[in-house]
Amino acid sequence: MKVVCELCPKKCALNQGEAGNCRARVNLDGELVAITYGFPCALHVDPIEKKPLFHFLPGSRAFSIATAGCNLHCLNCQNWEISQANPDQVRSFRMPPKQVIRAARKLKCKSIAYTYTDPVIFYEYTLDTSRLAREQGIRNVLVTAGYINHKPLKELCKYTDAANIDLKGFSDKFYQTVCNATLRPVLNSLVTAKECGVEVEVTNLLLPTLNDSDEMISNLCHWVKSNLGEDTPLHFSRFSPRYKMRNLPPTPIATIEKARQLAKSAGLKYVYAGNVLNSEWASTFCPGCDKKLVRRAGVSFLGSKLKNGKCPHCGKAIEGVW
Ligand code: SF4
Repeated sequence: MKVVCELCPKKCALNQGEAGNCRARVNLDGELVAITYGFPCALHVDPIEKKPLFHFLPGSRAFSIATAGCNLHCLNCQNWEISQANPDQVRSFRMPPKQVIRAARKLKCKSIAYTYTDPVIFYEYTLDTSRLAREQGIRNVLVTAGYINHKPLKELCKYTDAANIDLKGFSDKFYQTVCNATLRPVLNSLVTAKECGVEVEVTNLLLPTLNDSDEMISNLCHWVKSNLGEDTPLHFSRFSPRYKMRNLPPTPIATIEKARQLAKSAGLKYVYAGNVLNSEWASTFCPGCDKKLVRRAGVSFLGSKLKNGKCPHCGKAIEGVW
């Protein structure tokens, strides 16, 4: 019997024994089974800044998990060894939700991050773990491309505290040719997560010649401001050649600087740059008085001057969970 997966916009119709486009969901005897449930292939303790989340519990640790597979197939994927693999091609560990919580506790992590590949494809594992974590006072963080249908995302957002959602480029053509996906569902997910009260940060990885035109960056920034708000942190990330895009050069620093200026001109208050050795571009400045409030070097947290989430100099409330 054919089964249709309603989890993401790809809506795979699967014959008996067939896996979906993400490789992680299989039709087994007429039932759609998430075959990586409870079997992460990556486990790490990361600084929350590495997600990147700069306005959510700075200086804290996130217990980070992923399973094999992905519903996108970005030509530049930095985790392609696990995201573009069949689950049986990678080494995985048995770790049911309860055990994830125990490990997070033991390792003094304030949050669990569902990351590296995409939590959309290990949805049920993420959902069950998130519910348990919430009961026990541990926060939940999604690092995702946001390529998911509205209903399952809404359900997951009930238990999600923060999310870094990739906005990979502000063009449907870019999404289709580079990511094997489409733009509109990602925009919808960003709005849904925000409406659900999730602390949303956005990442845009700049790929030379493909998504780095002034027009595309500017359109992206204006969209973020109009739909998510001027206080939404936006991270521009520097590309280094990977996977099927080794032909492209790394993003020039000048492009990152240009993007930062375009974002500021669009009215965004918190603009950051990743994979760049410039601590000024990783630190948080008060949009009210321009004083440096949270110091970082790359993804290392160096200290915060915030007092109850406010600037100690001018009293402005700074967006985030502090
Ligand atoms: S989650 Fe996987 S199986 Fe389901 S529709 Fe998306 S790609 Fe297909």
